[in-house]
Amino acid sequence: MKPQILVVEDEASLVTLLRYNLEKEGYQVTEAGDGDEAIMLINERKPDLVLLDWMLPVLSGIEVCRQIRRKPETRDLPVIMLTARGEEGDKVRGLNTGADDYITKPFSVPELLARIRTALRRQQPAPAKGQLTYSDLTIDLAGHRVSRNGRFIHLGPTEFRLLQFLMQHPASVFSREALLNAVWGHDIHVEPRTVDVHIRRLRKAINAEGEIDLIRTVRAAGYALDTEPV
Ligand code: CA
Repeated sequence: MKPQILVVEDEASLVTLLRYNLEKEGYQVTEAGDGDEAIMLINERKPDLVLLDWMLPVLSGIEVCRQIRRKPETRDLPVIMLTARGEEGDKVRGLNTGADDYITKPFSVPELLARIRTALRRQQPAPAKGQLTYSDLTIDLAGHRVSRNGRFIHLGPTEFRLLQFLMQHPASVFSREALLNAVWGHDIHVEPRTVDVHIRRLRKAINAEGEIDLIRTVRAAGYALDTEPV
C-alpha cells in the first residue's frame, strides 16, 4: 500500500508543487490548509507522515505538532516541519515540541524526498530482539553489554540508558530537554548541561582512537547517533 502523506500548508502554489512531486514518487497525498483541518484529517485518515508548515492560519504548526504528540494514537506519527529561512529558533522549538525533522524553505525537492524516506524508514518497528546494532556498535539489552568492533565497552548506568535510547532512534536529533525526559524522566530536576557531561563520557567510552565519532553534535539543537557528519 502506498504510504499516505498529509501536507499541511496554506500556500496553494507550494501545495501543488508538493502534491505533484510526492505523487510522482508514489505517495498518496492528503491536504489540509490550516491547523484545525490537519488535526481532523490526522484522526480521520491516519496518515503515515505529516509535512507540517510552521506558519498556519487558525492553529500554528507547533500547536498541531504538540497535539499529535499528546495523543497516544499519534504519538509516533512522523512529523517533518517546514520552516521559513532564518527562523533558527523555530528549528529548536520544533524539535523540542516533538517534530522528527525540519526543513527550511525554500527547499530542494530531492532533499525533502530523502528526509521523508528516512522518517518513514525510522517508523518501521525494530526486530524484537534483545540486541540493537548501529554501525559497528552493539548493545545487548538483556545482558547489559556494549561492544564496538568486538571490543567490550564498560558504561555507567546513565551512559548505558543514554546509548540505548539513541540506538533506538538512530539518526534522529534530540534536544537536551528531550534526552533528559527520555533518559532521566520527567520528574527529576537535572540541568540540561548534565546531558553534555554524560554525552562526553559516552563519547569517550565508545570511540577508540582511529574510530569515527558516532555521536553528532547539532549546534543549538542537540545530539544524534549518526555516522554522517553535519
Ligand atoms: Ca504558511
